[in-house]
Amino acid sequence: MINRPHIIILGGGLIGLSCADSLITGGARVTLVEKQAQTGHGAGRYNSGMVHPSQAAPWLFKGDKLSATKLVLKLAQRSSDLLQNRRHQLGCLDKNRSAGSLQLFDSIFAGQTVFESSNDLGIAVDIYRGAWGFQRYGLHYLNDISGDAFHYCQRLTEDLIERGCHIQYGQNAALNTAQNQCHGIEIDGQIIHSDHVIVACGAQSAEFLNAYGINLPVSAMKGHALSFERPVGISLPEIPIMHWDSRSALTVFENEVRLSGTIGEDNPDALLDIWEEIAPDIVNAFADPVVRWSADRPASKLGRPIIGQTPLSNLWVNSGHGHMGWSLCAASGGLMSQMILDGKAAPEFALPL
Ligand SMILES: Cc1cc2nc3c(=O)[nH]c(=O)nc-3n(C[C@H](O)[C@H](O)[C@H](O)COP(=O)(O)OP(=O)(O)OC[C@H]3O[C@@H](n4cnc5c(N)ncnc54)[C@H](O)[C@@H]3O)c2cc1C
Repeated sequence: MINRPHIIILGGGLIGLSCADSLITGGARVTLVEKQAQTGHGAGRYNSGMVHPSQAAPWLFKGDKLSATKLVLKLAQRSSDLLQNRRHQLGCLDKNRSAGSLQLFDSIFAGQTVFESSNDLGIAVDIYRGAWGFQRYGLHYLNDISGDAFHYCQRLTEDLIERGCHIQYGQNAALNTAQNQCHGIEIDGQIIHSDHVIVACGAQSAEFLNAYGINLPVSAMKGHALSFERPVGISLPEIPIMHWDSRSALTVFENEVRLSGTIGEDNPDALLDIWEEIAPDIVNAFADPVVRWSADRPASKLGRPIIGQTPLSNLWVNSGHGHMGWSLCAASGGLMSQMILDGKAAPEFALPL
């Protein structure tokens, strides 16, 4: 590329970093601005670690759920393959980790309904046969995978820097706009010009864009995590275990066991009450949590992420991945790069203007 476009990305979470990755591969120069002192400390820091196309159905969405699910499923399946490849290249694939995830249900009827709809969508799913002794109806999703999202953010950040990405930390940027165009950002009284700016600020994207009169239908959906040292002497599941009713999960990582997720709970300790009932042998073997954490998922009111142009020319948004950001990050970054560098249209992900 003779004239390499300069692109500024606001937000160094899973989505901002993945945009940077694809844009640099496509030949762009990238400056990434992260308002915290490190990348990867947003909603992905202690997430459940599942790359789970099986969970593409939107939460808390009252529109055409089936169409939204099909759209997100397709993006997640593509993203899962891309991500696996990138994790392999970056040396952060955990070779001891088995593929798959298990979802447990309080009601057999709810489980059977999800089984039927998963089959209809072509998701590879089996009925749970009782491994690890959970006393519930369950579904085993064969093609989901898992891994530590924060470790990936760290490795990807190192790789991006090696490939020339400029990262500025701990700063709040404002947009530099004139005549309905975005010309770059203003930071510490200095203007940095760019050809394009991408807002990938997770759950804070809506508030950020609102200051420029742009309405982004994304709201914050709180989730929590408790992290424990791996207990010894008990059998731990090799794949993540989800609980449908509480929208939470138990995930065994290399050095920790994490309870995470929930919807509508104020406090991470709710996770202990939920999982004490589902997996008493594991929970009773835990010492005190080493981490208690809460974060806001960027939940789109459209039931799918919003990836596209804003009403200000040269200003783009990539947000609203809800409970699916780790599952969708690689393909979302790729799509953004194709839109900006190759002019690819993807109206199915557009911000309604
Ligand atoms: C408890 C929990 C469990 C989850 N489990 C899973 C899972 O198993 N699988 C899955 O696929 N997804 C999961 N998710 C969802 C996933 O983690 C999110 O969808 C994803 O992190 C969103 O990525 P993001 O980059 O949009 O936002 P974030 O990761 O929140 O990153 C946004 C970044 O932007 C920065 N920022 C904000 N404002 C500005 C600004 N003005 N300027 C510069 N930077 C700014 C923030 O500091 C942050 O670093 C889970 C989330 C939670 C909370």
